[in-house]
Amino acid sequence: MLTLEDVHAGYTAIPVLNGVSIRVDEGQFVAIVGPNGAGKTTIFRTISGTLRPSGGRIVFEGQDLASVPAHRRPHLGIAHVPEGRQVFASLSVYENLEMGAYTDAGRRDWARNIEAIFGWFPRLKERREQLAGTLSGGEQQMLAVGRGLASSPRLLMLDEPSMGLAPTVADFIFERLLDIRQSAKLTILLVEQRVAEALDQADQGYVLEAGRVVLEGPNEALRADDRIRQAYLGM
Ligand code: ATP
Repeated sequence: MLTLEDVHAGYTAIPVLNGVSIRVDEGQFVAIVGPNGAGKTTIFRTISGTLRPSGGRIVFEGQDLASVPAHRRPHLGIAHVPEGRQVFASLSVYENLEMGAYTDAGRRDWARNIEAIFGWFPRLKERREQLAGTLSGGEQQMLAVGRGLASSPRLLMLDEPSMGLAPTVADFIFERLLDIRQSAKLTILLVEQRVAEALDQADQGYVLEAGRVVLEGPNEALRADDRIRQAYLGM
């Protein structure tokens, strides 16, 4: 469904991605893990189009994204839930979700999507009239995920959904992602610093260090890998 082929990118003369190749198949849950500054968010920016790669190719469902401007990519079915949530603080929960439904598919599926989102995140339903800026961190993350889902994506990209959340709240969100993926038949690409949790959920993982993929494989193989166990799982 999505391939990155030897992608290079950066913001200044210093390269951040040094030839990243990643493959995500339809229906898969893929995690990209790695330390601070490895370039995980930068990968997402190249996929959503806010940063243009200086080399390589990104292909989504057979289409080379180089010719698709960033504002068109959500209409192809790519949803990016950014790091730090970035909900519209002065709008209500419901209005934030409506803002997410701006794609053709999102408008078409709105009635079904809003019911599903409220089913996965009952807190959002209870607080539908509350201003998003007054939600707790966990609730804001639920809202950010819900807003992404409201666009009726085929690929949901989540940038560190657990950031700044208590472990129990992060676990709740991770568990929901599994339900969402099953019932919405979505493909999920997750970037996470919580390596153990991310690899527990994902089918496939990539370990990124200094802008390069240093390890990749199915989750069981990565969790059993001595380098991962020592560097990331504290074993
Ligand atoms: P984290 O887990 O800390 O969010 P990350 O793996 O997502 O890290 P990126 O945010 O992709 O890392 O950043 C990779 C590198 O690119 C870092 O060295 C960062 O300082 C640099 N960088 C990110 N955004 C910009 C920018 N707008 N201008 C210049 N450099 C940037």
